[in-house]
Amino acid sequence: MYTIASILTHIDYERSYIFNDSQEIYDLAYDTRKIRSGTTSLFFALTSVRDGHDFIEDAYKKGVRSFVVSRNDIDTVGYENANFIFVNNVLFAMQQLAAYHRSQFDKPIIGITGSNGKTVVKEWLTQLLLPDKKVYQSPNSYNSQLGVALALWNLTDDYDCAIIEAGISLPEEMERLEAMIKPDIGIFTNIGLAHSSGFVSKELKLKEKLKLFKQTKHIIFSSLYPIREFLDSKHVAFSFGDSVDDDVRILKMEDSIGSGTAIQLEYRTEIATFDLPFQDRASIENSLTCLTTLLFFGYSLDAITHKLQRLQPLDMRLQLKTGKYNCSIIDDTYSNDLASLQIALDFLHQQQQHKKKTLILSDLEGLDDRFREKLLKLLQRQGLSRVILVGRSLAFLKAHLDVPTLLFESTEELLTNLEHITFDNESILIKGSRIFHLEDVSQMLSAKSHETVLEINLAALERNLQRYRSLLPTSVKLMAMVKAFSYGSGSYEVANLLQFNKVDYLTVAFADEGVELRQNGIELPVMVLSPDEQVFDNLVLYKLEPEIYSFRILNSFVSYLRARKITKFPIHVKIDTGMHRLGFLPTEVERLSTILVEAKEVQVKSVFSHLVASGNSEHDSFTLQQIDVFTKSVDHLENGIGYRVLRHIANTSAIVNWPNAYFDMVRLGIGLYGVDMDHRLGLDTVSTLKTTITQIKELDAGETVGYDRKGVLKRVSRIATVKIGYADGYSRRFGNGVGSMLLNGQRVSTVGSICMDMCMLDVTDVAAREEDEVFVFPDLMEAAKAIDTIPYELLVNISSRVKRVYFYG
Ligand SMILES: *Cc1c(COP(=O)(O)O)cnc(C)c1O
Repeated sequence: MYTIASILTHIDYERSYIFNDSQEIYDLAYDTRKIRSGTTSLFFALTSVRDGHDFIEDAYKKGVRSFVVSRNDIDTVGYENANFIFVNNVLFAMQQLAAYHRSQFDKPIIGITGSNGKTVVKEWLTQLLLPDKKVYQSPNSYNSQLGVALALWNLTDDYDCAIIEAGISLPEEMERLEAMIKPDIGIFTNIGLAHSSGFVSKELKLKEKLKLFKQTKHIIFSSLYPIREFLDSKHVAFSFGDSVDDDVRILKMEDSIGSGTAIQLEYRTEIATFDLPFQDRASIENSLTCLTTLLFFGYSLDAITHKLQRLQPLDMRLQLKTGKYNCSIIDDTYSNDLASLQIALDFLHQQQQHKKKTLILSDLEGLDDRFREKLLKLLQRQGLSRVILVGRSLAFLKAHLDVPTLLFESTEELLTNLEHITFDNESILIKGSRIFHLEDVSQMLSAKSHETVLEINLAALERNLQRYRSLLPTSVKLMAMVKAFSYGSGSYEVANLLQFNKVDYLTVAFADEGVELRQNGIELPVMVLSPDEQVFDNLVLYKLEPEIYSFRILNSFVSYLRARKITKFPIHVKIDTGMHRLGFLPTEVERLSTILVEAKEVQVKSVFSHLVASGNSEHDSFTLQQIDVFTKSVDHLENGIGYRVLRHIANTSAIVNWPNAYFDMVRLGIGLYGVDMDHRLGLDTVSTLKTTITQIKELDAGETVGYDRKGVLKRVSRIATVKIGYADGYSRRFGNGVGSMLLNGQRVSTVGSICMDMCMLDVTDVAAREEDEVFVFPDLMEAAKAIDTIPYELLVNISSRVKRVYFYG
């Protein structure tokens, strides 16, 4: 806890406007959704994700009275009894404060960096150290400039050591992370080998990452990477590998029976042989990194190898699944500590499709008196509807929570009683540590489906939104296209996130899609692209705003409204400037405006058009012509109707290529979903289609695979059958080697025709086993090209029977 007075001594600020400098601060807030206790929060108006200054009023309403801001036009007088600290850069100020807080922690801090494996190593180390040491680990994905600051802020004396993950995407970011974390011990996991970038850039990346350890004495790494070259005299290396220079020397490594790897290694003249429960390269490397770290901490080789056998691959965090009884399930069942519980609760809170919210919670790791009190406080301010507790040590909560609370001694007891508990139309967060195997509960509550899934990373979608936003002047509004099931990636799940991120408008193709959004708590204005007479009732009932594209639809909508005495219903007028799909021709604008002047039943909210080739420079002159025709048409219409309307014409590609076409609003579509048609922005992948191998067989040369004997084998081959076919949206045109999937890091091609629910892959050259996971579209753009289509079509064709799994990472 710090007072405002003490905070002022630890950050550089330009001026301040202080009402109460003895106000105590416990929480750093930057997202108004996550504010739990307003008065003791210090709100940072960050401008990185969206402009936090726009949220000051929200935060104030939630009780926040202390703000760190950078914009000088804040009306401090308008906010009574509040503290304002004006700084140059709000993020830097937060980092300064975090760095100061970290300096008060005098136990070892382990910093982890590398291209991959950071999270796994961090989680595993925490598990491995746990009975002996209370470990604070930075919550998952809290490895950025903001994340690290928040992670450090939560450090308390209750812990014996801390593991902090550092990730960078831009040069110079590591210096700032280093200044905050100042690790005592450094772990370097790896530098991506699979990357296409050349050696020089790899070396640069390595150097950049190693800046985290500028002042770190001990550095743990695999000598597979040329790290030693970059160390200097103040560093002490502690490495593993197969050379005599390595502290931990790997003597032998081979596949063992089952699915493990047998390893023999030598450490200080002692030799040990043991099995790791993995065969994939990444897991083996991560295990060895953990082993080496434990040796560094002085554990005996014998004790470590024993512990390692219990390691399990990490499941994905915070999966959002479709449940039975119209429920949504958030599955987070690997580890359970206060920090990750808080994040999971935030995620639960963000789900607006259900009012009712149930938490199923297991015992926490390392729960003692102090943690108990914190846990209780955390749960009390969540707005939960019901709590189901698993594990004896949580019994104390029952008396203190004022919502229905059920208590079970074990997961088995909960499972036997599960059918007697009513679940109905609610969001259920299942949060537990691994030993409670709450995933069994999750499985029983999940709706059944076959095993091809489309994973959707909502955080990636949020980051893509931000990339496009950063290109736009703040005065330009943003309409997000969520038509066609959000380009295949979900309806309210995506809309929910966009609503939180304050986009200005949503657009659907049909009224039904809009109705579904409304029924799931979406309140943003929604435009409907193709309305017809049958849906007028729903438009009015659910406040959905139609695109008006012809006199026929305009007249019938106006008569409909007139009969019900409705006036000023918002509509959007479409002008056809060259697409020749829907819309009024420029020559019809005159007549249109005369009708609109008379029609008091409607109010034109916006006038828009669509560019036919904004991403194709061959047609630039046509695009310019469209923009010109559009401008003239809207001028004309505005003159006629006598009021201003919003103008918009730019889709995703135009946001990148045509800044002069922004007008008042842009319509962001495909880019939001991670497809970079313009190859300019380095978007994050949002959707990943995955399937699994059902069977593998070895076949002789000359045998054939699939219908009509289309797949003729030219050699002795291993053929894998996977669970995806054209009924799932995997086009028949991908058959006979046209399509390729990614299996254990390698490309494999289809053999024979694609069947309805399955297809076959040639896995002769790849180590593959039944039940292995397969990525269906390793490169969406390339896959689209292979069958002469565009990524849009591949995305929206992924059938609705393919289960969507949401996560936030
Ligand atoms: C789909 C659509 C968009 C979005 O196009 P992207 O290329 O996906 O950005 C914009 N405007 C209209 C009218 C659309 O139908």
